[in-house]
Amino acid sequence: MLLAATLILAGHLLDPRTGHMLAPAAVLVDGERIKAVGAPSTIAAPPGTDVIDLGDATLLPGLIDCHTHLLLDVVVPAEEEKGRRYNGDFAPGLLLAIAESPEKRVLHGAQLAREDLESGFTTVRNLGHSGIDGDAALRNAINAGRVPGPRILACGRKLVSQGDYLQSLNPALAGAILEQEFLPVEGASVLKNAQYDVDVIKVSVDDNATPAMLASVVETAHRLRLKVAVHASTTESIQLAIDAGADTIEHGNRATDEQLQAMRAKGMWLDLTPALADGLWSKIHAPIALSPQARASVAAFDERGRAGMTELVQRVLKSGVHFAAGSDMCWYVPGKTRGEASTMVFPALRNAGMPPLDIVRAVTSNAAEMLGWQDRIGTIEPGKLADIIAVTGDPLADITELQRVRFVMKGGRVVRR
Ligand SMILES: [Zn+2]
Repeated sequence: MLLAATLILAGHLLDPRTGHMLAPAAVLVDGERIKAVGAPSTIAAPPGTDVIDLGDATLLPGLIDCHTHLLLDVVVPAEEEKGRRYNGDFAPGLLLAIAESPEKRVLHGAQLAREDLESGFTTVRNLGHSGIDGDAALRNAINAGRVPGPRILACGRKLVSQGDYLQSLNPALAGAILEQEFLPVEGASVLKNAQYDVDVIKVSVDDNATPAMLASVVETAHRLRLKVAVHASTTESIQLAIDAGADTIEHGNRATDEQLQAMRAKGMWLDLTPALADGLWSKIHAPIALSPQARASVAAFDERGRAGMTELVQRVLKSGVHFAAGSDMCWYVPGKTRGEASTMVFPALRNAGMPPLDIVRAVTSNAAEMLGWQDRIGTIEPGKLADIIAVTGDPLADITELQRVRFVMKGGRVVRR
């Protein structure tokens, strides 16, 4: 179906790159793309144009969540069950392949994708735990208009080194289960994922991975023009990722100042994932009966997380390294949709001391650049895809405005109004 031209009028429009607020603002959308942006008096809309007047609202580019797990929805087990397992928080949560069929998981993913879009996330980069090709299949269904959801960059199976996720599995069956979800850290795994037309390669390195293993992944991926996102939170694994020339480092919690400088020098990106560091652990444990000791340890986990994230964010801002942000949301958070849970990134970054404009950039213009999609999304400019959201107040005065998105347009189509 052809889209009519649409003229969006609003009190303000924020350009995340400059911080400039255009007021009042008009955006002319033609088909799926932005045709013109400016003061309302300067935009000539053709006859028959639909007009959407959003009053005093502020327009921003559609939000980009750089780290999602749309086919993962972990419910924290009861304390007793946790205590009786070796990796009680995660199994079988992080290995849904044990308990659920791929068909069931991808339908669940379709729900979470719709919820993300309704909260203003018009693009997500999905980084693993999707079965063999669940995220790529979901991406294709969304692109074909079969189900609503954000644009998805899919990674297919995550590459992991031996040992990860193996604990708590019956060793006799572990291989068959793991290959439903993961591939080994080697160049051949990139080729396997490429058969499913993935957009990015995700690697999780622990201290078992060798520089040669990671180098072969990066070399193969770059030959196929795929970027490599490396999960690394320890200082050793971050160094491995830097030495191998990865494109993005996910989490990066224990990056040293020297490592941040090395990343900056190499043009590598840091993808901050602060949501878990801002009280999320307490929220997901809220409905569970816990002993006083367990409750105290949950609270202590959150306190450590807050302190660590504040320290990291200050050093990242000082270092000048390129950064973006992602939710890493994979949990069932009571009372929240997946989209609502993912917006916890915004207050988490604010609480860690990040200025509001930097937070907006981390999920719009910076995020687009990190993904290599700066030619199509991340700002409201002529020629780019019409992914546009609106909030009531000024997000630079109160970043939690981004948790109350009132209007969502994706590719010229109104998703929420
Ligand atoms: Zn993750």
